[in-house]
Amino acid sequence: MSEEKKENIQEFKLEPDSELRFELEAKSEKVFVTLKTGFAEVFGTELVKGKAYEFTAGAKIAVFSWQGCVIELRGKTDVSYVARETPMVIYCNCHAALEVMRTDAEKDNKKGPITMVVGPCDVGKSTVCRILLNYAVRMGRRPLFIDLDVGQGQISVPGTIGALLIERPASLDEGFSQEAPLVYNFGHKQPGTNCTLFNMLYTQLAASVKDKVEANKKTKVSGVIINTCGWIKGAGYKELTQIAKTFEVDIILVLDQERLYNELVRDMPTFVKVVFLPKSGGVVERSQAARSEARDLRIREYFYGTSKSSVYPHSFDIKWSEIKIYKIGAPALPDSCLPLGMKAEDHLTKVVALTPNPGILHHLLAISYATKEDEILLSHVAGFVCVTNIDTERQLLTLLSPQPKPLPNNILILSDCQFMDSH
Ligand code: ATP
Repeated sequence: MSEEKKENIQEFKLEPDSELRFELEAKSEKVFVTLKTGFAEVFGTELVKGKAYEFTAGAKIAVFSWQGCVIELRGKTDVSYVARETPMVIYCNCHAALEVMRTDAEKDNKKGPITMVVGPCDVGKSTVCRILLNYAVRMGRRPLFIDLDVGQGQISVPGTIGALLIERPASLDEGFSQEAPLVYNFGHKQPGTNCTLFNMLYTQLAASVKDKVEANKKTKVSGVIINTCGWIKGAGYKELTQIAKTFEVDIILVLDQERLYNELVRDMPTFVKVVFLPKSGGVVERSQAARSEARDLRIREYFYGTSKSSVYPHSFDIKWSEIKIYKIGAPALPDSCLPLGMKAEDHLTKVVALTPNPGILHHLLAISYATKEDEILLSHVAGFVCVTNIDTERQLLTLLSPQPKPLPNNILILSDCQFMDSH
């Protein structure tokens, strides 16, 4: 073995309750992690002894061990260290408390706990959701995961909210299996861009989820875990309290911020348990550029899969006449110009038909399940395509699509999210 390769193999001995943290920057090479002895997990997913797990550029990982273990790390990381101080015992206690509630629900044939995770940006909200879901599913539960983080969500592409039934632990490279998620297209990277629409969509999602949960006994007792985005001040805080009400949450886990915790204790009804959780010292703060890169990566994976399980999207032309493109939200008009009975905020939920134009190039289009125009606003979506070319002369659009032609529906909704296909 060459000197250089030898240098890149490190072995870490983890004491019980400690974790190996490492980071790979956007342009880093991949690394491989192998559990040599003992037991270890990554955000609640157990590692199989002797198997080499691959992590690619951008990964920020903690390999935690309850009992102690030896880990081999092959490849060059930008940061790697062992941390003995972690909040994992507290997170595990949280899981244990949820498990007690699930057992009680099972006995009484009632609903299991509905938990919402909140906190500012970069405190590990998504990671805590992942840990709690993994622990639940490892105990044989089938919880429902709801992701309302439109910027850095884990379901579908950015700009969406959705629900996913969790039936097995997240895979280390691809996260939770995305089989048949229920997805609504919001079309923006921040809820504040159109609070009225955001509100309507999560209310619709809550209603659909309620039916789903009632229909499946196992999910009913397993409960729901809701991830939110880091917008917690002013209108963002109001939004959080509204989400809690709409989803009828029983528990709010507040990560890292005491002010938010105190505000929620003050404003929530007493039957809602508000619990403060410390953030892990390993959570990595992400710059705006890193967030935007993470969004790009998420869309790329939607079309092309991951480096380990790549998929090949289809590219085809479609006549403008074969599809109808809509945009949600029209420019605001002053009150004096509005038709009688129309409120100023109605423009935010106005469904506007669009003629294809160069402005939609590289944008994602959601394929709606709506069958007529008045269903568009609240319909969930089948998936997304990306506009990769516009031929105004021949009136053709070229679309990148995970599925071959024909599209499942001809009603398409424009999203703000863009993707530059460099393949
Ligand atoms: P957002 O502001 O986007 O909502 P968030 O609060 O949900 O962020 P996460 O996405 O959970 O935060 O975590 C941010 C990053 O930190 C992720 O890349 C995650 O993999 C990483 N991370 C979380 N916990 C640890 C840890 N203990 N050690 C190392 N990295 C970690």
